[in-house]
Amino acid sequence: DTAPLEVDVAIVGAGPCGLFAAFQCGMLRMRTVLLDALDEVGGQCAALYPEKPIYDIPACPSVEGGELVRRLEEQIAPFAVLRRLGRRVTALEGRRGDFTLRTDLGDRIRARAVIIAAGAGAFGPNRPPLDGLDAFERTGAVQYYVRRREDFRGRTVVIAGGGDSAVDWALSLRDVAARIFLVHRRDRFRAAPESLRQLDEAAAGGRIEKVVPFQLHGLRGENGALSAVRVADLDGNLRELEADRLLPFFGLSTDLGPIAEWGLETGLHNQIPVTAATAETSLPGVFAIGDVATYPGKLKLILQGFSEAAMAAHAIHPIVNPDTALHFEYSTSKGVPAATVPA
Ligand code: FAD
Repeated sequence: DTAPLEVDVAIVGAGPCGLFAAFQCGMLRMRTVLLDALDEVGGQCAALYPEKPIYDIPACPSVEGGELVRRLEEQIAPFAVLRRLGRRVTALEGRRGDFTLRTDLGDRIRARAVIIAAGAGAFGPNRPPLDGLDAFERTGAVQYYVRRREDFRGRTVVIAGGGDSAVDWALSLRDVAARIFLVHRRDRFRAAPESLRQLDEAAAGGRIEKVVPFQLHGLRGENGALSAVRVADLDGNLRELEADRLLPFFGLSTDLGPIAEWGLETGLHNQIPVTAATAETSLPGVFAIGDVATYPGKLKLILQGFSEAAMAAHAIHPIVNPDTALHFEYSTSKGVPAATVPA
């Protein structure tokens, strides 16, 4: 058994909120490690919508998910934050001031405090129940995330779903794809009013064909090469859409996975209730921020998670430094402190 990694704060989840928590802890000279099941940092922004613009980050009128993550990385670079990626945190034991975390790759991490920034937990897409789906997933004919818009250049794409993701991706891909069918089981789509206006415009111009009210029924193709998507209306009438790509956007299944077994109180929708003033959970010394945290007035927005990261870091400071009072300072007073941990 190798020696455990010793840090002040272990951050479970390296999405935007986990990344910003590493910054806030760094500013308070606390040593952190970022842990994530994915191979890359950035959480949903990196994995689900690297090229989709975000419009509600303060002072960034428009920033794509991937670019936001790059900027957060730049912001934490001075602190040489430790990273243990590509592994799930499976266990958390101990108490305030002395926790041990374990991963499925066998790491042991000792930390004085823990910040859970696990988003929706180990998230995965909701897959449509279609025969032979696996084979088409393996070849990339069916995908749940758009990693690169270019991969869809010249393709005929069926996009399924009625929410923001389906509408936004239909709009985003209309310039690269040869043709887009947007399939939804209801007549109406749920998306921002401006997106809906653009959708109607694109539909009128023939760039996007709305196929409503229809739902996915089957796939046609050989050896993982897709040639058509079959859809059915509520009366069972079938239509066959000739297409070589299918993007189902039926949301993510939210499963806190192992976190549900760590003795924390959990609430509705797999969220962890926290004290709004500190982001502390029912377990002293364990904090939760970002999408995974809930309290009255919680908005699942990145900007609110950033604020929670700052509150958690300040609440953790006395756990890590029981003998030193924290005098509140603005970032301009001292600048960014020098690296606190070896890379
Ligand atoms: P996440 O980004 O979900 O990251 C959590 C990370 O924790 C993941 O990487 C996961 O792998 C990891 N993890 C979970 N459990 C474990 C474990 N046991 N071990 C190891 N790692 C684990 N928000 C906005 O503010 N503005 C927008 O315009 C906006 N647009 C969006 C568009 C789409 C299509 C989607 C899907 C979301 C959008 N959001 C937007 C929401 C925003 O992305 C989330 O609020 C944000 O990502 C939450 O960040 P987070 O750090 O809390 O969690």
